[in-house]
Amino acid sequence: MQVESGGNNTGENLQAVIAEDPVIAEDRKRCICGPCPSYNECMRAEGGLLFCITGKTGDCTFGMKGCSCPVCPVWKARSLRKAYCCIRGSAEEQV
Ligand code: SF4
Ligand code: SF4
Repeated sequence: MQVESGGNNTGENLQAVIAEDPVIAEDRKRCICGPCPSYNECMRAEGGLLFCITGKTGDCTFGMKGCSCPVCPVWKARSLRKAYCCIRGSAEEQV
Protein backbone atom coordinates (compact mmCIF):
# COMPACT_ATOMS: atom_id res chain seq x y z
CA MET A 1 0.00 0.00 0.00
CA GLN A 2 1.30 3.43 -0.92
CA VAL A 3 1.70 6.10 1.71
CA GLU A 4 0.89 9.55 0.49
CA SER A 5 3.49 12.15 1.29
CA GLY A 6 3.26 15.89 1.49
CA GLY A 7 1.41 16.23 4.75
CA ASN A 8 2.37 15.44 8.25
CA ASN A 9 2.42 12.05 9.86
CA THR A 10 -0.19 12.56 12.51
CA GLY A 11 -3.37 12.17 10.43
CA GLU A 12 -5.85 9.45 11.20
CA ASN A 13 -5.70 8.20 7.62
CA LEU A 14 -1.97 7.76 7.77
CA GLN A 15 -2.16 5.97 11.08
CA ALA A 16 -4.69 3.63 9.52
CA VAL A 17 -2.38 2.97 6.56
CA ILE A 18 0.51 2.22 8.88
CA ALA A 19 -1.66 -0.10 10.92
CA GLU A 20 -2.72 -2.00 7.79
CA ASP A 21 0.68 -2.26 6.14
CA PRO A 22 2.88 -4.87 7.83
CA VAL A 23 6.09 -3.63 6.17
CA ILE A 24 5.54 -0.04 7.25
CA ALA A 25 4.44 -1.18 10.69
CA GLU A 26 7.67 -3.15 11.01
CA ASP A 27 9.76 -0.20 9.81
CA ARG A 28 8.02 1.98 12.36
CA LYS A 29 9.17 -0.39 15.09
CA ARG A 30 12.73 -0.15 13.79
CA CYS A 31 12.72 3.66 13.60
CA ILE A 32 15.31 5.11 15.98
CA CYS A 33 13.97 8.67 16.06
CA GLY A 34 12.95 8.25 19.70
CA PRO A 35 16.45 8.52 21.23
CA CYS A 36 17.61 11.12 18.68
CA PRO A 37 18.73 14.44 20.23
CA SER A 38 16.40 16.36 17.88
CA TYR A 39 13.35 14.33 18.89
CA ASN A 40 11.35 16.25 21.46
CA GLU A 41 8.34 15.90 23.71
CA CYS A 42 6.02 17.44 21.13
CA MET A 43 6.97 14.78 18.58
CA ARG A 44 6.59 12.13 21.25
CA ALA A 45 3.15 13.42 22.21
CA GLU A 46 2.05 13.26 18.56
CA GLY A 47 3.41 9.74 18.23
CA GLY A 48 5.58 10.92 15.36
CA LEU A 49 7.99 8.34 13.92
CA LEU A 50 9.08 7.11 10.51
CA PHE A 51 9.32 10.62 9.09
CA CYS A 52 11.37 9.36 6.13
CA ILE A 53 8.23 7.67 4.82
CA THR A 54 5.39 9.62 6.31
CA GLY A 55 6.73 13.17 6.11
CA LYS A 56 7.36 16.05 8.46
CA THR A 57 6.23 16.45 12.01
CA GLY A 58 2.87 18.08 12.53
CA ASP A 59 2.85 21.34 14.45
CA CYS A 60 5.99 20.72 16.46
CA THR A 61 8.90 23.11 16.57
CA PHE A 62 12.38 21.71 16.87
CA GLY A 63 16.06 22.35 16.68
CA MET A 64 18.57 20.52 14.55
CA LYS A 65 20.58 18.84 17.30
CA GLY A 66 21.72 15.89 15.26
CA CYS A 67 19.96 13.21 13.21
CA SER A 68 20.19 9.46 13.77
CA CYS A 69 18.76 8.52 10.37
CA PRO A 70 22.14 7.60 8.80
CA VAL A 71 22.63 4.82 11.36
CA CYS A 72 19.03 3.60 11.28
CA PRO A 73 18.32 0.13 9.83
CA VAL A 74 15.36 1.51 7.89
CA TRP A 75 17.59 4.15 6.29
CA LYS A 76 19.95 1.42 5.09
CA ALA A 77 17.25 -1.02 4.03
CA ARG A 78 15.46 1.60 1.96
CA SER A 79 18.69 3.07 0.54
CA LEU A 80 17.77 6.51 1.81
CA ARG A 81 20.14 9.45 1.37
CA LYS A 82 18.51 12.36 3.21
CA ALA A 83 18.46 13.11 6.90
CA TYR A 84 16.32 15.36 9.13
CA CYS A 85 13.15 13.98 7.58
CA CYS A 86 11.15 15.22 10.57
CA ILE A 87 12.03 18.76 9.48
CA ARG A 88 12.64 18.51 5.74
CA GLY A 89 10.06 15.91 4.80
CA SER A 90 10.06 12.34 3.59
CA ALA A 91 12.75 10.94 1.30
CA GLU A 92 10.30 11.33 -1.57
CA GLU A 93 9.67 14.98 -0.72
CA GLN A 94 13.39 15.73 -0.55
CA VAL A 95 14.24 14.43 -4.05
S1 SF4 B 1 15.53 6.80 8.63
FE1 SF4 B 1 15.12 8.27 10.30
S2 SF4 B 1 12.92 8.75 10.15
FE2 SF4 B 1 13.32 6.92 8.95
S3 SF4 B 1 12.87 5.23 10.31
FE3 SF4 B 1 15.06 5.65 10.50
S4 SF4 B 1 15.31 7.09 12.18
FE4 SF4 B 1 13.12 7.06 11.60
S1 SF4 C 1 14.27 12.35 11.40
FE1 SF4 C 1 16.39 12.45 12.09
S2 SF4 C 1 16.48 14.39 13.21
FE2 SF4 C 1 14.36 13.87 13.04
S3 SF4 C 1 13.87 12.78 14.94
FE3 SF4 C 1 14.35 11.24 13.35
S4 SF4 C 1 16.52 10.80 13.63
FE4 SF4 C 1 16.08 12.73 14.69
